[in-house]
Amino acid sequence: MSEVSEKLIAIKGGEFLIRNSTPEEIFIPEELNEEQLMIKQMAKDFVDTEVFTKLDAIDEQEPGLVPSLLEKCGELGLLGVTIPEEYGGFAKDFNTGTCVTEIVGAAHAFSVAYSAHTGIGMLPILYFGNDYLKEKYLPGLTSGKLKASYCLTEPGSGSDALAAKTKAVLSDDGKYYSLNGQKMWITNAGFADIFIVFAKIDGKDFTGFVVERNTEGLSIGHEEKKMGIKGSSTCQVFFENCKVPAENILGEIGKGHLIAFNILNIGRIKLAMAAMGGNVRSIDSSVKYANERMQFNVPISSFGAIKYKLSEMVIRNEALKSAVWRTSNYIDDTKKILLEKGKTIAEANLAAAEEFAIECAMLKVTGSEALDYCVDEAVQIYGGYGFSEEYPVARGYRDARINRIFEGTNEINRLLSVDMLLKRVMKGQIDMMTPAMAVQKELMSIPDFNSDNESEFAAEEKAIKNIKKAFFMVAGAAVQKFMMKLKDEQEILMCAADMMNEIYLAESLLLRVKKLQHIKSAQDFSSYKVILKVFFTDSVDRLHKSGKTAITSFAEGDELNMMLLGLKRFTKYEFTNTTALRRTIANKLIEAGGYCF
Ligand SMILES: Cc1cc2nc3c(=O)[nH]c(=O)nc-3n(C[C@H](O)[C@H](O)[C@H](O)COP(=O)(O)OP(=O)(O)OC[C@H]3O[C@@H](n4cnc5c(N)ncnc54)[C@H](O)[C@@H]3O)c2cc1C
Repeated sequence: MSEVSEKLIAIKGGEFLIRNSTPEEIFIPEELNEEQLMIKQMAKDFVDTEVFTKLDAIDEQEPGLVPSLLEKCGELGLLGVTIPEEYGGFAKDFNTGTCVTEIVGAAHAFSVAYSAHTGIGMLPILYFGNDYLKEKYLPGLTSGKLKASYCLTEPGSGSDALAAKTKAVLSDDGKYYSLNGQKMWITNAGFADIFIVFAKIDGKDFTGFVVERNTEGLSIGHEEKKMGIKGSSTCQVFFENCKVPAENILGEIGKGHLIAFNILNIGRIKLAMAAMGGNVRSIDSSVKYANERMQFNVPISSFGAIKYKLSEMVIRNEALKSAVWRTSNYIDDTKKILLEKGKTIAEANLAAAEEFAIECAMLKVTGSEALDYCVDEAVQIYGGYGFSEEYPVARGYRDARINRIFEGTNEINRLLSVDMLLKRVMKGQIDMMTPAMAVQKELMSIPDFNSDNESEFAAEEKAIKNIKKAFFMVAGAAVQKFMMKLKDEQEILMCAADMMNEIYLAESLLLRVKKLQHIKSAQDFSSYKVILKVFFTDSVDRLHKSGKTAITSFAEGDELNMMLLGLKRFTKYEFTNTTALRRTIANKLIEAGGYCF
């Protein structure tokens, strides 16, 4: 077995909570190779010249424009970066796909059309289609000749997707299924050639189908009038005795949930990648505007209030970036191991993404919320001009909002991340009991404030160990208290999810900065250390608040007092003048005249 395999076999999804992760086992964006950077640049050139110059026309839904841009993407190979060569793709790894998704993800409404096509549209065929379906549709989808959409949601079933009512009945001769029902909010529906449709065979077996646009009985509703991403096509899709050939079934009958949920794992991390791209664009334009806009005879970028915003936007994005690349590479390496073990590409891709489903759900939440923070502050920095459609940030603000809703709402993803973790604990895949019991013991003992850790990052290493203890204390006590009824205590689960999110972001940022020590110049490295210190200062406070909200809702008396004291102890971090540190980050941006991290 190769060295990579040996190293990675030990890494499992959700295990970050109990594992002493090291910088060596994570990947950071600064390690991208020349080819990956070249593909990233090609994607950037494409969106800069072809998409950002046409944003108004896209949002006005100029007929044929988005489909033609998808075709151009296809010509450049951007629809098939990770698709196998036999279907016309480049067969690149997951990380190379991440490079492209980050860049195209910033391209407003077009990015939604792109990700619906390349993600939820194409991947069900690649991963679950039989050879006939793959050969028939994938080459056209990779070249852009065909466009895809994904029909899961219905008027009566959104988050509760398995409650779908669309029904499929097999014909007497067994040659086709008759579909009847209605789908809601379908991205790309206005022009898609291929619809991935979920329906219940005989009203019970939830199953995926590939349905062609020109199938008799399929009709498309009007374009929805939306708050944002106005240029992406969103319509209802109706099926009235719609005849679908029996060979167009995806995967197994009654196993449609495996398709719907597995594809969503990948969709969720992709959404976080896209959020990184959106963050960079909104921060970049905020810096430029703040440098140019004069008030009180000085550029507004010289005001501390504006510096705070610019630096905080960068801090949140850099933490997100660290966690996204860490996870992207976990998926990539796990896939390599599975391929070595003889799995097919489809099996390896799916299993790798499923392994990190907890992280994907967490990143969906943290990515969409970091993006919302950035676009909101961008509007504020632009002031009144931020509210005008003549400036770029209003569009960014409107377009970002959907990200907290689709690919599973952020509430559903928060619930899922904790639920999936607890399921792995129950199955014995993650040992949460040992650390939870150790924390209980520690709470009874006198704290030991001495430390012989003299590393440059001693404070952060200690903080990571401690915030994990805080999580085990809170989650462990909640599990003990409510047992199987914990699922009904959503407020506590939301707090637990927020604590997990903070831990993953903080640890990923720490590991990346440690690795950067050997990559960046001393001066550049010091900026990342500043980002790290400010993030940790705020992160432990946020985590403290979540922990406190959770435990005060179920503990009382001595138990409550003991846990509150423990929480205080576990969320201690060195006192830092974050104002001064934030100014150094802002000054670097101001001097560079744009995003420079
Ligand atoms: C622009 C746009 C594009 C879309 N594109 C597609 C597409 O291409 N294909 C597709 O199939 N779907 C698509 N969707 C649908 C999208 O995935 C759903 O809107 C989303 O899953 C939420 O479902 P819902 O709107 O029915 O909200 P609901 O499920 O009704 O949720 C409403 C609120 O209740 C909360 N909630 C629901 N259940 C729970 C629970 N158990 N616990 C706690 N809170 C809960 C939610 O978090 C939310 O805040 C799109 C939606 C939009 C707006």
